Amino acid sequence: MTHETLLEVAVPTPLTRPFNYLCPTDMKLPVIGARVVVPFGSRELTGMVTNHVAELDDSIDPSKLKSIISTLDDEPLQPPSFHKLLTWASNYYHYSLGEIYNQSWPALLRKGEAATLQPVMQWQLTEQGKITELDELKRAKKQQQLLAHMQQNPIQMPQQLKDSDFAAPAIKACTEKGLIELTEKPTPAPCLWNEDNINQDDKLVLNPEQAIAVAAINNKTTYQTSLLLGITGSGKTEVYLQAIERVISEGKQALVMVPEIGLTPQTLSRFQRRFNVPIVFLHSALNDKERLDGWLKAKQGLAAIIIGTRSAIFTPMLKPGMIIVDEEHDGSFKQQDTFRYNARDLAVVRASTENIPLVMGSATPCFETIHNADLGKYQLLTLTKRAANASTASHQLIDIKGLQLQSGLSPQLIELMRHHLDRGNQVMIFLNRRGYAPALLCHECGWIGDCQRCDANYTVHQQYRYIQCHHCGDQHPIPYQCPGCGSTQLVTAGVGTEQLEHTINELFPKFNSVRIDRDSTRRKGALDESLNAINNNDYQILIGTQMLAKGHHFPDVTLVAILDVDSALFSGDFRASEKLAQLYLQVSGRAGRASKPGQVALQTHHPEHALLQLLNDKGYMAFSEVAMKERRVAQLPPYWHMALLRIESHKGDLITAFNQTIHDVAMPLLQQIGSKDHPLRQIGPMPSPMERRAGKYRWQVIFEASTRSRLHAFIDALHTELAKHKSSHKVRWSIDVDPIDMI
Ligand code: ADP
Ligand code: ZN
Ligand code: ZN
Repeated sequence: MTHETLLEVAVPTPLTRPFNYLCPTDMKLPVIGARVVVPFGSRELTGMVTNHVAELDDSIDPSKLKSIISTLDDEPLQPPSFHKLLTWASNYYHYSLGEIYNQSWPALLRKGEAATLQPVMQWQLTEQGKITELDELKRAKKQQQLLAHMQQNPIQMPQQLKDSDFAAPAIKACTEKGLIELTEKPTPAPCLWNEDNINQDDKLVLNPEQAIAVAAINNKTTYQTSLLLGITGSGKTEVYLQAIERVISEGKQALVMVPEIGLTPQTLSRFQRRFNVPIVFLHSALNDKERLDGWLKAKQGLAAIIIGTRSAIFTPMLKPGMIIVDEEHDGSFKQQDTFRYNARDLAVVRASTENIPLVMGSATPCFETIHNADLGKYQLLTLTKRAANASTASHQLIDIKGLQLQSGLSPQLIELMRHHLDRGNQVMIFLNRRGYAPALLCHECGWIGDCQRCDANYTVHQQYRYIQCHHCGDQHPIPYQCPGCGSTQLVTAGVGTEQLEHTINELFPKFNSVRIDRDSTRRKGALDESLNAINNNDYQILIGTQMLAKGHHFPDVTLVAILDVDSALFSGDFRASEKLAQLYLQVSGRAGRASKPGQVALQTHHPEHALLQLLNDKGYMAFSEVAMKERRVAQLPPYWHMALLRIESHKGDLITAFNQTIHDVAMPLLQQIGSKDHPLRQIGPMPSPMERRAGKYRWQVIFEASTRSRLHAFIDALHTELAKHKSSHKVRWSIDVDPIDMI
């Protein structure tokens, strides 16, 4: 068999090994990096050619090989460096390379669409049109007007003609007379930008800390990761912008990663004002066509700056110049199902394989990132002052022990709100629970409305009069009677944002309030409308979940209050305090960003809690130092490394059987691969914190190691061994490396 006809293809199946296919002799041999359609069982799948194979493995019978069905690309779909990146991801996350390739493509490319930009059509004046006298058309007024228009503007987009009220019949007639024609707009040369595309007037004079940061980032054009640690409002965005200036001057591209709801119109317009270059935004509201279009523009060097959320990390660039990850600690960078990657970590690998600088920014870096900076792997750059002369906010803990609360508001807080509102400022109240109330119960018999399919209570939504499980989406009208005793005395327990809004409207009838949570922003465009109205001062009281905490810039907010933090202080999740501290700082960062000093109030039953005291007095980094020491002692990340094996099934006994297999298989492997100096540890199998969700039973096993390479070797071996057992095929199980949510 000659090497020209044999291919290695990464196919999107759970099996991690590549597959061999033949290229029929009457078909052109696909290049490495091209998509091919292949038969797989009874299906046809789109795979990626990863190699031309010289010799077949002895174990494979050549007569059993199948042929590819078609080739979708003439040239490699992604840059060659992507093979390294995606292979790394496949090994690190223990996930099939074929699936990863598939997920790294926009949806339309997965479905077999061609990877070419749709040509843009335009109307153009012909040579004949140029010399034709307007008088010749005097009996066709509409055509005459069109010709006159085109002689003034020889190239017009179809939309421009429409906007100028030229109708189809006149266009058609002029086309038939050979005066105008529809032509393809020529594609501009790639990466046609330089320092002239930077709007110098928009630039701010950097303060000394910012200037040092920009210089340190720009001292290398090769790989280096910088951690820009800057309190909220310290001018991190200005540092990104000035770092990108160099990239643009060199005719290269920059990829800017932002959290899911951090892509505000304000941020976008800052980039657009600064750079007169094509910018592509890849966000969740795009349709498949728009997403593919943006992806292709980046790949072909027709977009200079690409701003996007998690999956944008897979956007190819023709001339990569820099990657920026803003708010690097944000949980939305981690994909929480199937291929459970963290885009922040992939950014490090991508920057290093493409040999370009990476900048991560945060006011509250996650502990893994701080640890890497401590180890000297990342260059640490700090911004300690608020940039625009804004003072930092003052902090206050409100002890709510024994107090009478109104929908969660203490009398002190209500007083404070009044104080700030009466001075014409805005206040922001933060409660991380949407809906009216987190539970519905019967006053007579104690019945609680709980979901039949999950270990969770129904949340009451008063406005549309339904109860809903927030874990599986199950929804019913609010019952009139208790299903247990028939009583009509059904009451709600606890407070959600909807109820809080209701109470606040009663307490402050003279002021307008707005609620920002997943319920109130479901309609497309609703969030933007509310944010604009807030900036317009249409609302004085802003109520929200953490959606409101991210990146938005409200200069008139002077008071920020967090209603309930106690649940996070006493959570079983070892990351809970880190997450709370991040949230606390992000939320506080909303107060007093302009010239008005801000105030932050926190309600708690535990004002003496060491963590709160530390955060309150000394800030996030002092807190992280203490909290990280605790992690080191407890042998937890970032010092130890963790992988979670998740198991799911509708049938409890299938899980029991699989648990037994895990026990039998893992024990000898742990001993073989671990050692005294490189210990490996197993915790579980045990039920997940939410044991039942959407009707399925859920269990988990934690594996921990002090050495990452041992953990990976172990997981690989475990994978192989488990697959040999029948019980592993009867349940759904998956591996989550570096889990951040254990629920
Ligand atoms: P961060 O991203 O760190 O939260 P921003 O970049 O949004 O902070 O900056 C906060 C505010 O400070 C913005 O209004 C910005 O225009 C302003 N700012 C940033 N750098 C400077 C500077 N060097 N001089 C004056 N104003 C600045
Ligand atoms: Zn009852
Ligand atoms: Zn449910």
